Amino acid sequence: MEDLTARQECTSAFDTRHPPSNEIIDKCVHCGFCLPVCPTYVLWGQEMDSPRGRIYLMKMASEGAAEMNSTWVSHFDSCLGCMACMTACPSGVDYGKLIEATRAQIERKMERSRGEKFHRRFMFETFTRPERLRRMRLPLLVYQKSGLQAVVRGLGLLKLLPKKTQAMEALLPKLGPRETVAEVTAAVGAKRKRVGLLLGCVQREFFSSVNAATARVLAAEGCEVVAPQAQPCCGALLVHAGEEAAAVELAKRTIDAFERANVETVVTNAAGCGSNVKDYGHLLRDEPEYAERAKEFGAKCKDISEVLAGLEPRATRHRLKLRVAFHDSCHLQHAQGVRSQPRTLLSSIPGLELTEIPEAAICCGSAGIFNLVHPDAASELGDRKARLINALKADVVATGNPGCVLQMQSALARLGQKTPVVHTIQLLDASIRGESGESLRR
Ligand code: SF4
Ligand code: SF4
Repeated sequence: MEDLTARQECTSAFDTRHPPSNEIIDKCVHCGFCLPVCPTYVLWGQEMDSPRGRIYLMKMASEGAAEMNSTWVSHFDSCLGCMACMTACPSGVDYGKLIEATRAQIERKMERSRGEKFHRRFMFETFTRPERLRRMRLPLLVYQKSGLQAVVRGLGLLKLLPKKTQAMEALLPKLGPRETVAEVTAAVGAKRKRVGLLLGCVQREFFSSVNAATARVLAAEGCEVVAPQAQPCCGALLVHAGEEAAAVELAKRTIDAFERANVETVVTNAAGCGSNVKDYGHLLRDEPEYAERAKEFGAKCKDISEVLAGLEPRATRHRLKLRVAFHDSCHLQHAQGVRSQPRTLLSSIPGLELTEIPEAAICCGSAGIFNLVHPDAASELGDRKARLINALKADVVATGNPGCVLQMQSALARLGQKTPVVHTIQLLDASIRGESGESLRR
């Protein structure tokens, strides 16, 4: 644990368990370069809802000049955790560590309202449990396929429900058949690598075709793919929401599962999960049995685009005549610093025309559970992104995170657009399999 300064010991509003680091706070020189990319500052223009303002609030609380009351907390609850400020910051302020520490403090020290507690508990107990998500598939399929969803939406019945429930319904993925990934998928041809595949929770149950495509592409490129079936949720949602203790337990189980699999690399295909597992060394720094193993594990984790960019292409890419708008997910571009690799992958597909979405640094409003707890702000950000995408007249939108897929599909639908939003790997898979772009519209 870092040494506490005298100001923290005497007066701080934070407790002594990993308060936001004064060393990081003091690196902020208040230049404001981060302001134009901060989605909440872009929306509301309020200093306290900017990265600089939030860092100032942390400093005040750390010095005992501000108390941790509901107004103070609201400025941190409204942060999307998109990390755009980190990319923009010329002073190297690690805002990610600050917000993570601040949120853990808030969850330990602040009592949330009963409604908030219930809503948060529902999300954490559902979205971090693949088996519970699987049980939701049948009722959701009936709701979608029976035409009930169309009737409910058409008659505007959703308006009778609370805003947060409306937001959840609007973001429901269009369910198809559930595809499974085998415990071990053999490499096609001579084996180049043995890799593990992190299956995710929402990805595993609601975007199973993305996991299946990931395993197929890796195998086609000569990788033996191990997908431990007993792997739990990686805890990303919990870390980003300040639920540290529960996240630590899931991280330990994830490490155990992949150590048993004995793989060189752990492949992630959901950017939020990817940024979380890469940072396990930090999350488990106080766990004597796991601290070193967590660092090693984090160093092995790579986004699918990073893994493929490091392999000389072996599988033939067939023509895919599509105009594709690529959306940088925040947890890929800002948290993991992965920008060029997905573009390189897409550019390797013959016939595919890649277009860039303006304001790429700014979040689409998905941001973990942000679009479920702040539906109005999330919709504004989603609509802004959808208008920019719409102007590009793309056939398909590609991205690297399931949350972004849902958020942009929902925002495009509000604009009356049916442009498919897919994972980058699905385009590469379609090209390798020689499928037409039409298959992505199903
Ligand atoms: S993480 Fe995103 S929303 Fe939060 S302060 Fe940084 S730029 Fe703003
Ligand atoms: S860009 Fe960095 S140094 Fe400048 S105000 Fe933002 S966080 Fe502080």
